[in-house]
Amino acid sequence: MPAPDEEAFRAEVRRWLAANLAGEFAPLVGSGGPGREHEFVPERMAWERLLGANGWIGLGWPEADGGRGLPWGHEVIFYEEYARAGAPARVGHIGEQLLGPTLLTFGTAEQRARFLPGILAGTELWCQGYSEPGAGSDLAAVSTRARLEAGEWHLDGQKVWTSLAQFADWCFVLARTDVAAERHRGLSYLLVPMRQPGVDVRPIVQLTGTSEFNEVFFDDARAAAADVVGAPGDGWRVAMGTLAVERGVSTLGQQLGFRREFEAVLAAARATGAIDDPDIRARIVEAWAGLEVMRYTALATLARSAGDTGTEPNVNKLIWAHWHQRLGELAVDVAGAAATLAGPGYELDNAQRLFLYTRADTIYGGSNEIQRNVIAERGLGLPREPR
Ligand SMILES: Cc1cc2nc3c(=O)[nH]c(=O)nc-3n(C[C@H](O)[C@H](O)[C@H](O)COP(=O)(O)OP(=O)(O)OC[C@H]3O[C@@H](n4cnc5c(N)ncnc54)[C@H](O)[C@@H]3O)c2cc1C
Repeated sequence: MPAPDEEAFRAEVRRWLAANLAGEFAPLVGSGGPGREHEFVPERMAWERLLGANGWIGLGWPEADGGRGLPWGHEVIFYEEYARAGAPARVGHIGEQLLGPTLLTFGTAEQRARFLPGILAGTELWCQGYSEPGAGSDLAAVSTRARLEAGEWHLDGQKVWTSLAQFADWCFVLARTDVAAERHRGLSYLLVPMRQPGVDVRPIVQLTGTSEFNEVFFDDARAAAADVVGAPGDGWRVAMGTLAVERGVSTLGQQLGFRREFEAVLAAARATGAIDDPDIRARIVEAWAGLEVMRYTALATLARSAGDTGTEPNVNKLIWAHWHQRLGELAVDVAGAAATLAGPGYELDNAQRLFLYTRADTIYGGSNEIQRNVIAERGLGLPREPR
């Protein structure tokens, strides 16, 4: 089926969002963003299912796998309109944006048939089990173990910083399945059900007072023998494939979210009179210019994304993480001394949440130091750092 015309598609998305972000879903507008992931969780899960039932998940996935096979330009439009409407932060984004594309690239036909429909329908939520207390930047140090016994994988170990694990039905886990092999080679990529006796999820309270991420303990947890993506021992390649898709077209939607945050900061600066402070004025102008640069850079990267984009995604991550953190600082500076006080029961306003949550931007998805290492070694050909 030919893709609908872009303008017609934009109008369709806009109409659907206006009609459906109403009634029982009206309170979800603007909810669930950074530092506010605790808001309206059951309602946002229902919203995810509504998106799925109406064909708004997996827009770019092949039709043969249940997607709509739309070009990336249409996906960008969807994310732009989604952000513009203030639609809620997605609870299913890890499945749609990380696991789905990984299965489309590395999964067997059986795995795609088993797992993609739940993501597309918004009925099965996923989390990402990579990081461990001793394995973050140095991910190949993963020590969670899995052994194949009597037709099942048995897992023991601990993951940490596992976003949304408390709501997830499934986790894609990087586990060591061959302790004798060289450390990058002994890993496997397993699909593990979260709701079973051997899995214990403990939320971690963050600076924002809420819990986006968790500790996850595996104590003889089980996964089906067939639920290994790629061959056993080939998990590193698959895990890197997931990271490569991590910054897809949704980055433009993310930037619209940034724009809304920027506009809120600007409105606050006008309301409080902080706009008259020359330092604040200069930082507002800089923030606006940064937004424009990010938008055009992301569009240029996406337009080239059919080929190898080299270290461009690393450069983009560095730029937006830095930009967003500066915006958080600007938000509390605009609020002035009042920003140093939380409300009763540690109630935080949007500026305080933005400031506190954006401390994480330079850590997750690869810290700034690691992005610089990648750019130095792979982009500039500088000598590898001593190990
Ligand atoms: C909000 C948030 C959500 C997250 N969600 C998930 C998730 O869903 N699933 C998941 O698996 N993980 C998740 N993470 C974990 C994230 O991927 C790790 O925090 C990140 O990879 C850094 O690892 P680490 O915390 O172990 O820090 P470390 O690797 O211990 O690093 C500590 C510090 O040392 C620096 N450093 C480390 N190595 C080098 C080096 N070679 N050169 C220079 N500096 C170095 C780092 O930059 C950092 O500043 C999340 C993290 C955050 C903050």
